[in-house]
Amino acid sequence: MAEELSLVNMPKEDLASFSQSYVFQKFSEYYCSSSTDIRAPQSIDRREFAFLLFKERIMSRHKAFGNIERLRAYINDVHPSDIYNSCAYYENPQLEMDKKGWLGADLVFDVDADHIPTTCDKIHDEWTCKDCDFSGKGITPEACPVCGSQKFETKTWPCELCLDSAKEETAKVIDMLQNDFSLADEVIHVFFSGHRGYHVQVEIEDMRTLNSAARKEIVDYVSGFGLALFENEKRLRGSSTKRRSVAFSLSNYGWGIRLKAGMRRFITRATKDDMRGIGIRRNIDSILENKELIIKRCLEENRWTSIRGVSDETWVKIAEHVRNLESAKIDTVVTTDIHRLIRSNGSLHGKTGLKKIELPPSNLKDFDPFIEAVAFKGGKIKLLISSAPRFRIGDDEFGPYHDEKVDLPTSAAILLVCKGRGEVLNENV
Ligand SMILES: [Zn+2]
Ligand SMILES: [Zn+2]
Repeated sequence: MAEELSLVNMPKEDLASFSQSYVFQKFSEYYCSSSTDIRAPQSIDRREFAFLLFKERIMSRHKAFGNIERLRAYINDVHPSDIYNSCAYYENPQLEMDKKGWLGADLVFDVDADHIPTTCDKIHDEWTCKDCDFSGKGITPEACPVCGSQKFETKTWPCELCLDSAKEETAKVIDMLQNDFSLADEVIHVFFSGHRGYHVQVEIEDMRTLNSAARKEIVDYVSGFGLALFENEKRLRGSSTKRRSVAFSLSNYGWGIRLKAGMRRFITRATKDDMRGIGIRRNIDSILENKELIIKRCLEENRWTSIRGVSDETWVKIAEHVRNLESAKIDTVVTTDIHRLIRSNGSLHGKTGLKKIELPPSNLKDFDPFIEAVAFKGGKIKLLISSAPRFRIGDDEFGPYHDEKVDLPTSAAILLVCKGRGEVLNENV
């Protein structure tokens, strides 16, 4: 075991614990191996690169490389834990921010379990306020409910169920890009992030120069924010003066189509409880009895007011429920930031030891991050594990663990150590 680890070559004076040394060793092996799959982004010479360094625990920014070979040589030199490149293209990517000369940026969507409520996040995710120590389970709030602080210590897990939810949100983003924005598959690049989600990166000349405000419009679209559900300023027939009147209405394109399809699904399957659950109080029985007629007249023929008892208010409630289901839960800040650094393709995620890896949009459904993004094969090591939920890597299942010593394959051990759930024991050395 000691030989396999060869801890002797590591900068022990800088890396205090065996655990850090172990992760450093394994990450270095991965990055320095000739088979490492670091991929160059499009126009590599126009991108800013940044590296999170093991020893210094700082982000080293404003690096630029003319080609992938120079990038690989640099990685060999500095032994980083995480590698990022700008979604932006710059005239001089190596200069300070205000001197770089922004030329454009890819359109980036970040789908992360941190932004998706799931039923399991209360089991495996925890947050603690750094100022008052108040803690809770599930999604970290924007501000502490006790003291209002926005600083938290979080403990999350790359859970398979959460990752499946992230996959569903990612599929929605891809579907909108393909169908509503008419983008070709070739310009839509989909990646597993290496942690709790997926990145969708659109690389197309026409969209590069969109400013933040334009990207915010796209965010709003993808999130279904500000949808027009009413036809405004309708002139009432037979009235001599133009009176303000609004009526529920949906277009026959984009979100209009999405809402109608979702509303048809909802109405077809809805029970009394489903109707009550979205706030409908009146005429539930008659709605349920006339499902087919309602779908035909209202959804297919756009005659929204043609059935007595199904009011604008009812339609709005159904539409808003469907909007919530059909909108993609993305980290909105990432898309509007035109200088964003994003994890590089093929690099390791410092919180898991998994790779960021590209997959064809059509393979998303069948993609298995716990097979395809696993970077470390072979080897075993003994860990002292404080706590970990049950998890899978490849075909092997592990845990749950609670204060115990376990011999684990490298990939599982790296995941636990990187997530702060386990420590390498010095008996391994
Ligand atoms: Zn607090
Ligand atoms: Zn989960």
